[in-house]
Amino acid sequence: MDDILIRGGEVVDGTGAPARTADVAIRDGRIAAIEANRTESAARVIDAHGRIVSPGFIDIHTHSDFTLPLNPMAECKIRQGVTTEVVGNCGFSVAPALPGKVEMLRDYLAASAPWLPFEATDFARYMDRWPAIAVNTVMQVGHNTLRLMAIGMDNRAPREAELRHMQEMLAEGLEAGALGLSSGLFTAPGCFSEAGELHALGQVLKAHGARYSSHIRDESHGVHEAVAEAIDVGEQCGIHVQIAHMKLSGTDSWGQADRMLEALRAARARGVDVHGDQYPYDWATNPLRFLLPTWIQEGGMAQMLGRLADPYVRARIRQKLAEVGFNNFGRIESWADIRIALSPQGAAEAGQTIAEIATQRRSDPLDTVCDIILADKGATRILVRSMSEDDVRRIAADPAVLVGSDGPCVAPYGVTGQGKPHPRLYGTFPRLIGRYARDLGLLSLPEAIHKMTGGAAVALGLEGRGTLSPGHAADVVIFHPATIIDTSTFDDPHQYAAGIEAVIVNGQTVIENGTHSGALPGRLLRRRGGVLA
Ligand SMILES: [Zn+2]
Ligand SMILES: [Zn+2]
Repeated sequence: MDDILIRGGEVVDGTGAPARTADVAIRDGRIAAIEANRTESAARVIDAHGRIVSPGFIDIHTHSDFTLPLNPMAECKIRQGVTTEVVGNCGFSVAPALPGKVEMLRDYLAASAPWLPFEATDFARYMDRWPAIAVNTVMQVGHNTLRLMAIGMDNRAPREAELRHMQEMLAEGLEAGALGLSSGLFTAPGCFSEAGELHALGQVLKAHGARYSSHIRDESHGVHEAVAEAIDVGEQCGIHVQIAHMKLSGTDSWGQADRMLEALRAARARGVDVHGDQYPYDWATNPLRFLLPTWIQEGGMAQMLGRLADPYVRARIRQKLAEVGFNNFGRIESWADIRIALSPQGAAEAGQTIAEIATQRRSDPLDTVCDIILADKGATRILVRSMSEDDVRRIAADPAVLVGSDGPCVAPYGVTGQGKPHPRLYGTFPRLIGRYARDLGLLSLPEAIHKMTGGAAVALGLEGRGTLSPGHAADVVIFHPATIIDTSTFDDPHQYAAGIEAVIVNGQTVIENGTHSGALPGRLLRRRGGVLA
């Protein structure tokens, strides 16, 4: 007898193959059969006529390590159909946290993980103590975190012993089953590293069959060089590279999506194992302090706050801004294109733009930015309109670019329901299907689903998930193809997506008819050699 029989749906299996009408049977947490008119009896039958039945979505780039321990039901993700989250991205991980350096890591991540309790831990213990949650989790070790532990916020190359220490901490995480290393070279302290350091860490990845993902060094003026740098790590070390949230930031770089995608295609054509990922929005989100020149952060939080109070330093920032725009984001069109997402110390109101706040305070916009960072002790998070919609669409249509929300899992209630976060946290996957595939026709439904399932599994070395086939883990989403869409907006972001009818994780129903069952069937997936399972 089947545990669950999903009857009569249009099966889009995640391989990119077209939809076919079939029943999907689930037993003991796995797909038991996919066939027309199955006659076996079942403990539960879900009628899926007129619905799409697909593999659960893999959110290949998230920061839910900051929030899943606080919201184990994984609300805003599971309600998009996400069944697996890859965490530890952009160089940021909450482990390892060495004794005596926990406070520094908490300060460093204050604008990203303001509510998470931090504790001293190595990576293996961190993984072992990961709580029961609704979705599967894949972990990465963050390069910024490693550098913080080994060198602090110093702007220099590591000494030999420090580099060895970083390699050892990385190896310890990899031996515990982490997928690989993520870098965040756009900001301190990752931006203080040079190629030799990354290659030395890449050798450790290679030795473990592990992978490299990168928030590249510059997504604005230097974006093409930064893409080449990420590809070079993969090419020189012989490892897979995942280029995070592909975009062209700043008006000077708009219109160059084809050039960036061509670099990816050319690398793949010469045998480099490289993918990208994207969230389908023209706004980004970041800690406000990361928009300023990176030297501001040298030495750590206390030094940064001291500098920002200094009129001479502000003048230097102002000059840099006039010359090239913001760090990593380049030039934006208006101060109205920066909005407060979260101000943990109450320095500004979520939803207000820098233009509005500056007018209210009768202050210069850059002084307003510096004053907010000071009052919030660096913890302010903002939204910034830095991309062109045309570039977003070209990147969305590329089959080698996978799908990542680049966001933590939050909920409309509880501690994670504060502020006005980026709508991508709630809407990335339904938006790509409903808006970019269905409404705009930039890609077919099987192509869109492949990017978020089977294609992502290939990029991760993930076995036994990502496509619907007998024997695979039963991670399944059932949605209405005509109504699936994101509903989260910048003014009212805490809104679950529409059209997702049921979500099953490891054979257990988590979402049915818009209701969360409270089940926490997610598994921590560990990499052994080149295989993640
Ligand atoms: Zn990033
Ligand atoms: Zn990220």
